[in-house]
Amino acid sequence: MKCKHTHKISGKEIACTMETFISDIPIDKFDRCIFHSEDLKWKKNNNFVTLFRELLSHIYNVNLSSFGFYDFIFVGENLNLDYEVENILYFKKLLSKTLLTFYDCQFYCEVVLEQCVFKDALNIVNCNFMKQVLLNSCTFYNELDIFNNCSFKKKLGIYNQNTFNNNVQIADTVFNDDLEINNNQIYGTLRINNNTFSPDFGINLYHNEFLLGFSIKNNLNIGEVNIEENKIKGNSLLNILNKLISYYLIIIFIVN
Ligand SMILES: [Zn+2]
Repeated sequence: MKCKHTHKISGKEIACTMETFISDIPIDKFDRCIFHSEDLKWKKNNNFVTLFRELLSHIYNVNLSSFGFYDFIFVGENLNLDYEVENILYFKKLLSKTLLTFYDCQFYCEVVLEQCVFKDALNIVNCNFMKQVLLNSCTFYNELDIFNNCSFKKKLGIYNQNTFNNNVQIADTVFNDDLEINNNQIYGTLRINNNTFSPDFGINLYHNEFLLGFSIKNNLNIGEVNIEENKIKGNSLLNILNKLISYYLIIIFIVN
């Protein structure tokens, strides 16, 4: 049995090839593989998360320089963690050397990445996240890009000593909850541009260390932008202030 799902690249229909990565890949009654099936319960019962981990190990082991996840539908597993959620996609100390791009994926689970290391870029393109997403103590050696019609129904939290050695972009994305970026080191430029928020929510940028600064431009419907206790190591303070537009803004800078 083979998955009948196809995705489009430049107008061409490309067939699913996931069976080449996972032997005996489960196929649902609509002929969709574990990654493309829309039957959330069936996916969970057929160990979606275990098989996704297997796919990631395969990508790591064969040293692929880049990999695209197209139209994947994600469900979580039930784990007894501090986060106390029943439906979670949780990775601790994941190491990726590959440029990973998630295209048009749906995440029906909470996503938590803890102490993960991305040696190459991570791109999130036109993906929908129905539950909270947390990045906690991760290291990105290359860019993190979230753009092109992504949506976050719950909070996106980037907390607790994530290190970004390159640029971070969050653009053209819809937020139905807060975007919180707290206690991180950001050595590239952080850009939060052209996003749409809900009036009751906004952006918190708290206690981060920047080298090149950040821009927050052309965002719609932001309830509040709190920018507090960030350290600017480089000479970019003026640059940053010029780029900020006039929201209701609370800014306290510490400049060394
Ligand atoms: Zn498939």
